[in-house]
Order: sequence, then structure tokens, then C-alpha cells
Amino acid sequence: MKIHHLTPEEALDSLGSGPNGLADTTIEGRLREFGFNRLEETRKKSQWLLFAGEFLHFFALILWLAAGLAFFAESQQPGEGMATLGYAILGVIAINGCFSFWQRVQAEQAIAALRKLLPNQVKVVRDGALCRILADELVPGDLLVLQEGDNVPADCRLLEAFNLRVNNSTITGESLPKGRDALPSAAEDLAQSRNILLAGTSVVAGEAKAVVFATGMHTEFGKIAHTLKTTIKGQSPLQRQIARLSRFVALLALLLGAAFFLIGQAIGLSFWENFMFAIGIIVANVPEGLLPTVTLALAMATQRMAKRNALIRNLPSVETLGSTTVICTDKTGTLTQNRMAVKQLFLDNRHCRPDELGRDSLRHHAEFLACAALCHDLKRVEGQHLLGDPMEVALVNLAHDQGMRVAYPKIGEVPFDTDRKRMSTLHDTPAGKRLYCKGALEMVLPLCSQIAVADQILPLDDAGRRTLQDALQTMADQGLRVLALAHRPLTDSVGADPEAAMIFSGLVGLEDPPRPEVADAITQCRIAGIKVIMVTGDHPHTAVAIARQIGLVQSDHPKVITGDRLKKLTPSQLQLALDAPEIVFARVGADQKMHIVEALQRKRQVVAVTGDGVNDAPALKKADIGIAMGLASTDVAKEAADMILLDDNFASIVAAIEEGRAVFDNIRKFLTYILTSNVPEVIPYLAFVLFKIPLPLTILQILAVDLGTDMLPALGLGVEKPDAAAMRKPPRSSQESLIDWRLLARAYGFLGLLEAAAAMAAFFFVLNAAGWDYGASLPRHDPLYLRATTACLTAIIVMQIANVFLCKQRQRGLLATPLLDNRLILAGVGVEIALILAIVYTPWGNLLFGTAPLGHEVWLFTLPFALGLLICEELRKWLVRRFAPFPRHVKSPVLRRSRRC
Ligand code: ATP
Repeated sequence: MKIHHLTPEEALDSLGSGPNGLADTTIEGRLREFGFNRLEETRKKSQWLLFAGEFLHFFALILWLAAGLAFFAESQQPGEGMATLGYAILGVIAINGCFSFWQRVQAEQAIAALRKLLPNQVKVVRDGALCRILADELVPGDLLVLQEGDNVPADCRLLEAFNLRVNNSTITGESLPKGRDALPSAAEDLAQSRNILLAGTSVVAGEAKAVVFATGMHTEFGKIAHTLKTTIKGQSPLQRQIARLSRFVALLALLLGAAFFLIGQAIGLSFWENFMFAIGIIVANVPEGLLPTVTLALAMATQRMAKRNALIRNLPSVETLGSTTVICTDKTGTLTQNRMAVKQLFLDNRHCRPDELGRDSLRHHAEFLACAALCHDLKRVEGQHLLGDPMEVALVNLAHDQGMRVAYPKIGEVPFDTDRKRMSTLHDTPAGKRLYCKGALEMVLPLCSQIAVADQILPLDDAGRRTLQDALQTMADQGLRVLALAHRPLTDSVGADPEAAMIFSGLVGLEDPPRPEVADAITQCRIAGIKVIMVTGDHPHTAVAIARQIGLVQSDHPKVITGDRLKKLTPSQLQLALDAPEIVFARVGADQKMHIVEALQRKRQVVAVTGDGVNDAPALKKADIGIAMGLASTDVAKEAADMILLDDNFASIVAAIEEGRAVFDNIRKFLTYILTSNVPEVIPYLAFVLFKIPLPLTILQILAVDLGTDMLPALGLGVEKPDAAAMRKPPRSSQESLIDWRLLARAYGFLGLLEAAAAMAAFFFVLNAAGWDYGASLPRHDPLYLRATTACLTAIIVMQIANVFLCKQRQRGLLATPLLDNRLILAGVGVEIALILAIVYTPWGNLLFGTAPLGHEVWLFTLPFALGLLICEELRKWLVRRFAPFPRHVKSPVLRRSRRC
């Protein structure tokens, strides 16, 4: 007989387990025998293949072609230096390939480290106590405790099931949840059996206890899983933009090479010299480092985000975060601490504090306290600690403090869900069966026909109901979360619906203080032009009171939309309602969150949404950024989310947005830096063609800059930390392109021209000092020519060293910029200096790059130009700050954007 044919007891027995679960002493042996409960990546791409891929992509192929052409030219026309160029290009391919591979490994390691941060825990019974363990450590025979929202971590046989429904879509493809129970099954197929839960599926509703019979690769999922889902899910718009941009620049490089070749031919340069030049121009302008730098910049940002408690599940989300315009956030636990304490009660038609209940409370309010003690979903972990909703823990503590310590067995339950906003449990008490119910007042009150007042049970009339509603408002206006408690005895004659004709026992007001850091985070959002909308299941008055405490609501009349009102709004009415500067959604169900997200997206907003329950999953998926809570979320919500907050804290969302914004800015800094040096590389050639002077910068020297000295500092700019100014700008439009006219004008039209002026001046400084006359020819190996080109190259590098510090900021002055905070830039500058010294002062450097040692006067000549670059750029930044600054303050991004669309 297979395991699904057995009774629960037989199934347990067959696996050497029992009602108390496995003994701790048996675990190690089972782990050794069956291995850890994890899937192995069966078809992981070999590192060698990945390494080879770095030498075979589009840009590498262009370089191979260029090297091939250089060697071909050498064979046709030996002695023109074409072989050196060919070898140089091979060197470039090798350095680039290794560098890109290193970047990829770094990025992958960064992401792998993140995955480890979020261990997947499960609840099991071992040695008779409920405990949490890593899902990896499950063994056959373990007794699993599952509830709504949990992922099933291994194949298991149900022992007890309560209203259990599971989503099997990962295994069978059916999207409708299926009911499951613990009865023996006659089905042939294991997967079809009603008492089997398979690894990889998830619990959509209910609770269950089950015994594990297969783990890891022995599960059905393990058998069919060939590849593991990776966290890098396709390309982000930014990565696509970069890829397009790189291809465009590569094409431009080809055209530029061809144009230079034609110009050279037209003015009668030698064919081979010309040919070599064209190849060099192409090689120098192909932006090989761009794509891996973007990936690394994103990966580094995810690591910084993790340090600030935001875990990114897929890389492209980093950048989407940067353009977020609206955050729809839950209240409980995200804006508040989820540390519940009972502050007020409403019993016997009067408000009181718990400490005012008096010694007789146990006698007068026995049913009220029994409800607080019994109507919950808490689990006792390791014998004592209560695990579950802090609000329920607070209620149990209230009952215990008043001496109510009953533990009547639970024989039934109607679980809590966000639409019903209440839950009920059924207990066997010495006085017979009793139903205890707690929930939102408007959901509980209509089900009550009587009320308990001072030892008496009275009919509940309209005046009584109004009194209760007034009491609720009074408590909610203080920001308290209010719960109504009720009960009823159940006799066999009760009709189909046990939650009816109940006795109202009282109201409880719980305080859940706002997180201290949230008010600042809300102010930061306001300044950054990000609209924050509270979407809560709680009462509108509580919601507004809390919103006011954290500064989310400042006006006297914020717009408050309840779930009931939301149901009646047409899509266009909802869209218009969202224009209100301050808006709070209260008493909304999870499915309604989705409508709010959709309406915002129709308004072209980039929406981040928080959620924790199973019902939140569709909204999390639909949002541009779905954010799940690391502590409170169900596995299903985590799976649907793009980002997980390790501390469930709203302030961490804002920190992540700041990092996201930095990524885009960093890539711009990187681009500005590498584009700048193209100008002093092209202008010498134009001067050579137009003014018939000796060529100031040779092609190998261009390669030395683009693929040698520029590389590390540029990379350093790609991983800069976020700057305080990043959160003082409005969100970037998702349409905004990476390269805009401002960037081009700054790199090409300003910084580049200044660098070109320095390079040309250094070249002529050396020539003039040696008494060279305009028009006199200079052979390629003449020591004077070698020194002059070396001076030109040195000037470019000195200017680029100054430039890297200027590129750290687009608007802010150097004095206000931390210059030494980025170790990669500092290391890059160190390497840059070492390289230029090696090129200028070592014999092999001289041989390879056609250079000659320079006297100190040349260095002294170039330094003032670097200083000039600093001063001119400071002046430009000052003018921009004064006359065309970035917008500093934005009132409402929704208003601003909707007007535009
Ligand atoms: P948020 O959506 O901001 O986290 P919330 O926790 O109040 O706020 P829900 O969890 O949807 O939102 O709860 C909605 C309402 O249901 C609560 O205001 C409360 O009245 C009631 N409620 C919440 N949890 C329970 C529970 N465990 N038992 C009974 N009623 C509950």
C-alpha cells in the first residue's frame, strides 16, 4: 500500500514517527541518510562556458574582426606597425573578457549572498514541542504544521486538515485551489490524492498537520525540476536602453572609422596608415565595458539595499524603484510597530482602562475574557512562547492578567480573512459548546442580538448599537485599533450559521504606536515628490489618526475612501479621486488594493505596493514594485513580491528608493566620464588632417586611455553611494533616457573640449621648447615626436584624474562633495597613475605605446590645466545651480503627471 492509502496513524508509523514528531536524536541520522531538503541545480551553466561567452558577444566579435584585419594588413604590408596594433587589440579582448567575467562573478555573488539572508523557515513538531527550523533541515517523518500562505516545503501526507485548500499550479498547472483532507484515499496516483501535499505548492486557506515522506530531489517537484528559478529575471528597461545605446555607439564608431578612413584617403595619407587609424578609432569607441558595468552597478545597489533591510528579488527592480512615484502602504506593522497593547476597553457601556477592571472582573466579564483568551490562531512554540498575531497575543495577555487561564479544546474554527474581518472559534467548555467571535465592530455587531451588561444579558436595541458605534469612534479617533468581542452558547438546535444571534461582550482598544523613523521617511517622500497612500483594513478613524501622527495627513479634511465607497466608484471616478493630495483608503479588502494599483497605473504612475497575505499576491504582482514583509508575510506574498523588507519597516522602502535613484545617476556619471575622453582623442586627429601637423596622439595611445587608464575610475563612478540630493529631486520619468542633451553637452561640449585644449597645448609645448617650426615634418620615430605625443597622452590622463572627481556630481560643487568616500575610485586613480608612469618611464611602455620619458617641466605644464578644468567646471555648476537648478520641491506627483498625460 502506498502512503496515501494508509490511515494517518499507519502513515506516521510507517515513517517511524509519532504524534510527538521525531525525537531530536534521530534527526542527524535521517539527514545523513536522506540529505538536505533542497533541490540541486541540475543544469547549471558551466563557468567555463560563461567565461567563453565573454569573448564571443557582439562587441568582442567586432574586436576580433579588427584584430584579424590588423594581422591581415601586416601580412600585406609588413613593418607598418600593424602587428603591434593586432596584438594590442588581442590584449584588449583578453583584458575585457576577464574584467567582464570578474564583474559577472561579483554580481552573482552579491545576489547569492542576498538569497542566504532570507532563510526559509517552517514550523514542525519535534519531541512534542512546536519549533521553527530551516526548510532545508526537514527529514522524512517530520511533523509539519502548515497554515494559510505557507509554501509546502516537502512532499507530505496530511494527518489533520481544517478547511484546507491548496494551490497546485506549480505542479499541475491548474490555477483553481483544491480542497484537501486527511482521509485515506483510493486514488491510484499520488499527485491526485486528496490527502497528499506536494512540495512547491502553497496553502491558500485553512490549517493542517502533515507528515513528511519525501524531501529534496526525491519529491515530485525535485523529479520534474530541471533548472532552478534564478533571481535575475530578464532585462530591465534600463538594461535594454543600455544595450540599444551600446549598439548605437558601436555603429557610430564604425561610421566614424569609415569617415576617418575616407578623409585620410581624400587628403592623400598612405593607405595602410589610414587603415590602421580607422581600425583604432573603431576599437576605441566600442563601449565594451558598459553592459557589465550596469549589471555590477545594479548588483552593488542590491547589496547596499540589503544592508538597509530591503532585499531585492530581481535585479531590474532596483532601477524601477528609482522611478517610483507612488507608494501604497499598509498600516499595521509597516507604518506602525505591530506591538499591540490593550489601552482601553468598553464594557458595561462605559470606557475604562484594563487596570481599572477591578478584582471581580473574572466574575463579571468571564465570557469577554474567555473570548480574549481563546479566540485566536496563536501557536505555543517550545512549550511557552506564543507565536502569531501580536494583537491576539495582547488579548491573551489581557485575559491572563485578569486571571482567566482557561484552555478549553478548540473543536472548530471559522478563520479570519480580510473580507469578513472577523474570526470565530468553537470550544468544548464545562458549560457546553461555546462559540467565541472577534472582529471589526461593523462585522460583528449585525450578528449580535443581545449584549452582556453587568452580569445581565439584555436585548441589543438601536440605541445600544449607536452607543457602541460612538464608543468605537471615540477610541478610533485616538488612533486605537478597535475589536469587538462576542460569544454564544451552541446547542444542537442551532441552525446552519453558528455566527448569528450572538451576545455582544465588549470592545477592546489596542494601541499600536507608529514606528519612530516613519515620520522622517514620510517627509523624505514628500520632498522627493513621491506620494504615499495608506491602504489599510483598519477603521477610517484609526487610519486617519495614525496618518496624522506620522505626518501623512496634515490638512483638516483628507480624502478618506472606505472599501464600501470604493466598490461604488467607476474607474474614472477612482482615477480622479486619486488626484487628492492627501488620501487614505480604509476598511479595504486585498482585492481592492489591486483596483487602486490599476487606477494609479492608468495615471502613468510607477507604483510600489506593500502586502503580506495570500490575497495581496495579485496586487503585489500587478504593481511595478511589489513589496512583501520579511517578518509578517506569507510565503505566497514573498514569492509574488519584487522586494522583501527584512524589518517590515516603511522607512526601508524609502531607503531602497534612494539606492534605486542612485543607480541611474551613477550610470550617467560613468557615461559622462568615458564620453569626455573621446573628444581629446578625436580632436588631435582632426588637427592633424586640417592643419597638417604631426599626429599628436597615436592609435595605441588612444587605446591606452580608453581600455586602460579610464576603466577602473569609470567603474568606481558606477558604484557610487547615493547622494543626499538624490531624494530632493522629483522621480525620474520612466521615459527619460539615459543620455540627454545636458549630459552630451557637458561631456562633449565642455569637459571634453577643455581636455582637448590641454592635450594639444602639451603637444605644442614640447615641440616649441625644442624649436619645432610649423610645417616642418617629424618622422614617426624622432625622439622629439615621441616626447610630444607622450605629453599629449599624459595631459589627457592628468585631466581625466581631475575629471573623475568632477563627475561625482552633476550640480554640487567640489567643496560640498565627499571626495575620498569611494574606495574604487581612489584605487582606480592609483592604478591610472601607475599605468601612465609605466607607459612614460619604462622601456616596454615606451616600446608598446610609442612614448618617451618626459621631463618634470611637462608635468608642471599640464597641472594648471587640470586646475583650470576644476575651476571652469565649478563655475559652470555654480551657474547651473543659480539659473537652472533641478526642481527642488514638488507638491503632488500625481497632479503634476496627470496634467502632463
Ligand atoms: P493593514 O491592512 O494596514 O495591515 P489591518 O491589519 O487592520 O491593517 P486587516 O488585517 O485587513 O488590516 O484587518 C482588518 C480588520 O479586521 C481589523 O481592523 C480588525 O478589525 C479585524 N481583524 C484583524 N485581525 C483580526 C483577527 N486576528 N481576528 C479578528 N479580527 C481581526
